[in-house]
Amino acid sequence: MNVAGAGIPRAVRYLLDLALPPGCGGCGALLPRGSRGPRICPGCRTRLRALPSPRCPRCHAPRGTGLPPDRPCPECAGWPSELTTARCAFQLADPADALVHALKYGGWPELALEMGELMARALGWVPEAEVSALLVPVPTTPSRERERGYNQAGLLARAVGERTGQSVVEALIRREGGSTQVSLHPSERRANVREAFSLGADEGARVRDRDVILVDDVLTTGATATAAAEVLVDGGARRVDLVTFARALPGREPGTDPAGPSGVLPMPPRGRPDRT
Ligand SMILES: [Zn+2]
Ligand SMILES: [Zn+2]
Repeated sequence: MNVAGAGIPRAVRYLLDLALPPGCGGCGALLPRGSRGPRICPGCRTRLRALPSPRCPRCHAPRGTGLPPDRPCPECAGWPSELTTARCAFQLADPADALVHALKYGGWPELALEMGELMARALGWVPEAEVSALLVPVPTTPSRERERGYNQAGLLARAVGERTGQSVVEALIRREGGSTQVSLHPSERRANVREAFSLGADEGARVRDRDVILVDDVLTTGATATAAAEVLVDGGARRVDLVTFARALPGREPGTDPAGPSGVLPMPPRGRPDRT
């Protein structure tokens, strides 16, 4: 366990709270003083949106109402079988994008507790419902974790685990390198990231013969999650599924286009259902 007590030291946080009025992590609206209050305002909570339906039963990507049900989903058609399904609580749109950014880059580890709760609730996970599967956060590199003071996926996994009663196991290790993912083609991303993960010496053994739920903040192409899933299955995990706080909608972000391994866009951008 390397996230407990991480982040800004309590005394410094207290002084910051005195100096700066706390703002909502999603919109910046002023919140009541004190570090124990909510960090996400009621307005932002109601503006968080689920992914549009219908969705792919495997990867949760919006399919568009005009796509025949038997047509393979271009988002996950290239995923290896090691990653069984993905479930994403919210669209990576306002205010989920601001929350993810504040958690990841804004030095706001406190947000994770509320984001994890919202995530578990959106996914329909009631307390103690999923105790059999282990939660494994997707790790970040040691240098980024040192820089931030925490791994945002680890904090989310703990917040979800507190609600559901699942154990969090930091089974994976991510080595340095491969930080320029956004500029790479999806097939290059996959190759780049596959070598990045390995099982940790101690915690890694705990996934053997267990069902595992990978936890991450955002799903884009799935390159990171599928690489992590392959390593977990190699290490003896029975089944690996993914949950994330948000999902980038295909075609909305640079570097997240839905091109498959062939490099050819298999269908027009989603979000504009073909009504013919
Ligand atoms: Zn807000
Ligand atoms: Zn899919």
